[in-house]
Amino acid sequence: MSVQRTLAIIKPDAVASGKIGPIIARIEAAGLTILAARLARLSAEQAAGFYIVHKARPFYGSLCAFMTQGPCLPMVLEGEDAIQRWRDLMGATDPAKAAAGTIRKEFASSIEANAVHGSDAPATAATEITYFFNALEIH
Ligand code: ADP
Ligand code: MG
Repeated sequence: MSVQRTLAIIKPDAVASGKIGPIIARIEAAGLTILAARLARLSAEQAAGFYIVHKARPFYGSLCAFMTQGPCLPMVLEGEDAIQRWRDLMGATDPAKAAAGTIRKEFASSIEANAVHGSDAPATAATEITYFFNALEIH
């Protein structure tokens, strides 16, 4: 284990339903530190670029449209084992399969509109953080 940074996003569904506060409360209660945060309304091109790894999946177009439907809240989180710990707080991709007490179980409405994003590995975390934040924006 080591101190890591990860990219978290409160997705447009959770921003629109007023869940920024409860989700950030869980991040802080878990002892993860927020190093950067900014509301962002993604363009179609920005959403497509962020999810380029899923380009061949049947849900890619719909996912990109969902991510542009309103503002989202990207954040950089830091802490011991932050990548896995944030994913544990998020829960499984499909809220129907997410464990009780996880963010997706409580706040997500579908496998697509699933409230939050989290990087899945150190290399993707590094790429995703620089997709949204430059060095001067990470405190
Ligand atoms: P995770 O966000 O848990 O890492 P993935 O990287 O597999 O999940 O997928 C990225 C995002 O694509 C998911 O968070 C979700 O918004 C969407 N997604 C994944 N699978 C599906 C699906 N079968 N149908 C619709 N949207 C999906
Ligand atoms: Mg993923």
